[in-house]
Amino acid sequence: EEKESLNFIEHIIEDDLSSTHGIDDLRFRFPPEPNGYLHIGHASSICLNFGLGLKYDAPVNLRFDDTNPAKEEQEFVDAIKTDIEWLGFKWAEERYASDYFQQLYDWAVQLIKDGKAYVDSQTSIAIAEQKGTPTSPGTNSPFRNRPIEESLELFEQMKNGTAAEGAHVLRAKIDMSSGNMLMRDPVMYRSLHKSHHRTGTDWKIFPMYDWTHGESDYIEQVTHSFCTLEFLPHRELYNWFLDQVYSNDKIRPKQREFARRNLSHTVVSKRKLARLVEEGVVTGWDDPRMPTISGLRRRGYTPASIRNFADSIGVGKRENLIDVSHLEYNIREDLNKKADRVMVVLDPVKLVIDNYPEGETEWLEAENNQEDENAGSRQVPFSKNLFIERNDFKEEANRKYFRLSLGREVRLKNGYIIKGESVVKDAEGNITEIHCTYDPDSKSGSGTEASMRKVKGTLHWVSAEHALPVEVRLYDRLFTEASPDTHKEKDFMEFINPNSLEVITGYAEPSLKELRPEDKVQFQRLGYFVVDKDSTSNSIIFNRTVPLRDSWKK
Ligand code: ATP
Ligand code: MG
Ligand code: MG
Repeated sequence: EEKESLNFIEHIIEDDLSSTHGIDDLRFRFPPEPNGYLHIGHASSICLNFGLGLKYDAPVNLRFDDTNPAKEEQEFVDAIKTDIEWLGFKWAEERYASDYFQQLYDWAVQLIKDGKAYVDSQTSIAIAEQKGTPTSPGTNSPFRNRPIEESLELFEQMKNGTAAEGAHVLRAKIDMSSGNMLMRDPVMYRSLHKSHHRTGTDWKIFPMYDWTHGESDYIEQVTHSFCTLEFLPHRELYNWFLDQVYSNDKIRPKQREFARRNLSHTVVSKRKLARLVEEGVVTGWDDPRMPTISGLRRRGYTPASIRNFADSIGVGKRENLIDVSHLEYNIREDLNKKADRVMVVLDPVKLVIDNYPEGETEWLEAENNQEDENAGSRQVPFSKNLFIERNDFKEEANRKYFRLSLGREVRLKNGYIIKGESVVKDAEGNITEIHCTYDPDSKSGSGTEASMRKVKGTLHWVSAEHALPVEVRLYDRLFTEASPDTHKEKDFMEFINPNSLEVITGYAEPSLKELRPEDKVQFQRLGYFVVDKDSTSNSIIFNRTVPLRDSWKK
């Protein structure tokens, strides 16, 4: 009954708890390769592993899978730690696969001695050609039965860097006719004479993923090693490598797979995101258009919105494409509760109140957030000359138009009821000023009969002389296609949305001067916005997180 609500991953754990493991044995890990910044797909894996840690009160290690010095950097290690902490999770121990290089090497030497691994001195092309096909067996390498002593000696040369890069590899001796291509004598080590971000030039050989991952799980005594589905065929090899070192008084880690999560209108692959950065399509890994955790943070996403998103899509066994509108829904939900409402005009036209006294400023009380009793209120300046949005006015309008038009009334938010009277136009016929009159008895919250009068529309506005010019960055989807990287003939870069960023000047109520980077507000009737990290008190920059409503046109 209670088990009904468990997902398949939790079922695996519960089954193990009733057979092999005590609850205190449970241990998980999140294993990023530090070759880029974490993205929204990683958030699913983070929420899964750290979520299990919280549920079972079990430790979760952060393990950097750092076995490829050609692609990995300290910058990425630091960014990954920042992002996981920002999401609100705590790892038990910070580990590195590179911590295990000596142990892995010692085990590899033992495998050679046991006749289960050999040094192959062919080119990678020759090795690939001998692999065969899934329906026909591979061909043995001419070095497969090389004397153990010779393999030991060459492996040592590889390790010391006296052998040239690419001259040899170490291969496991398994089965060249296995139905699983990964079992056909997989490569365990290659030579790489590159400096590693942690081990420097100590190591000239680097272990491959399959040889590293399960053994690292074993060293850390991880009970459940969850990875994405493409590793399903690797499970057999994971187990074969474990068999070589396993001692039965220890925990035997178990690899299980779940479906990768993909998000629409973007790409979730570090390699592809790196191209966007390198080719200057975006300003960096934390560009607000990037689906990276740091990009989403800069875009105005909250940790709760990302965790809620990940939890709501859950874990699955089949890969699918999650529409980005689902992510946007989660940030609207969160910010609706948390973000103060403010008034900013993005496309201003001047509104003159003919019967309002010249030179007078009145400070109106404005509620910060009707969804949050504790949010309080602020004062907003009101005067004769205001800005409203250009598209909030039409000279003539039908009955369904609830904004301002000539002869009709609307309320100015937190202020008065006004009536459109006339317009001033330039030589081309563009409206340069709208003139109106106000009803002095209709002030919001004053309790008068006139203030209770129902009018169809309410507009946001700012006082022209008090308005604070702010830079507003309007972001849109980075790709025009829902699934840009699944086309057969076209590169995903061909689907970049040329209009993913528009920079404009907005006119804000003066209270916004106090905001600091990462502060989030709702521009009333427009959307949620966040103060950018490059913002200063003299030049304020807002990023649009998301419009108030989903208005994406396909
Ligand atoms: P990328 O292709 O972006 O480099 P990766 O899987 O190679 O992805 P890792 O750093 O190895 O990246 O990922 C760390 C963990 O996050 C792995 O367990 C991986 O399976 C998981 N992960 C990565 N991408 C996704 C995704 N889109 N959905 C769910 N889990 C993911
Ligand atoms: Mg990986
Ligand atoms: Mg990768």
